[in-house]
Parts: sequence; structure tokens; C-alpha cells
Amino acid sequence: MSKPIICEQCHKVIEEKEDLVTASIFFRVKPYHYFCYGKDVRGARSVFFTNHPLNGLSGNISYLLTLLMTVALFLFTEGFIKYIALVYLITETSLRIYGYCTYSRHLKI
Ligand SMILES: [Zn+2]
Repeated sequence: MSKPIICEQCHKVIEEKEDLVTASIFFRVKPYHYFCYGKDVRGARSVFFTNHPLNGLSGNISYLLTLLMTVALFLFTEGFIKYIALVYLITETSLRIYGYCTYSRHLKI
């Protein structure tokens, strides 16, 4: 058994991968229960802090959209803006890799 993953909201152990939502808040990846994420992060705080799930279906869809938009910006725009898009993509990718290595891979199924 590897290290326990503790939910940021209710401070209980997250047992299953299906129940885990990792969210980035100010470039810090935090683990939540699926239920706790809906209760805490998507509420009032998300108005002020941009956060979004990094894993699961919605995380994968948002990453795919980010990837497509970055590639489109990189191919069809000139100058500085495409480097901003590239930096954003690199940041998003690293947050997901970090979230996977730190939390998701320790959980079964
Ligand atoms: Zn929780």
C-alpha cells in the first residue's frame, strides 16, 4: 500500500481512482473526492480562483480543447501570442503529469 491520498475538503482518505478529482489552484495541484470537489471548489472560490479538474472525463476534454486551440494558435498566428499559448500548454501538461505522479498512480482502478 502506498501513501494515502487525503481530500483537501473533508480530510478523509480517498480510496478509489474513480473518486479522485485533482484540481489546479494557482499552479498547485490538490486532491478532492468527486463529491467534495463539486461542493468546495466549484462554488464561490472558483469565481475568484481559476481552477478546473485535471483528471477524469471533463479534465481530459478540457485538455484536448486546450491542445487543439494551442496548435491552432501556434500555426495560424504570428508573433508573441503563439508563445503565450505554448507556455500555457506546457503548464497544463506539467500540472497533469504532476497530478498523475503524485496522486492518481497511487490509487487502484
Ligand atoms: Zn472529501
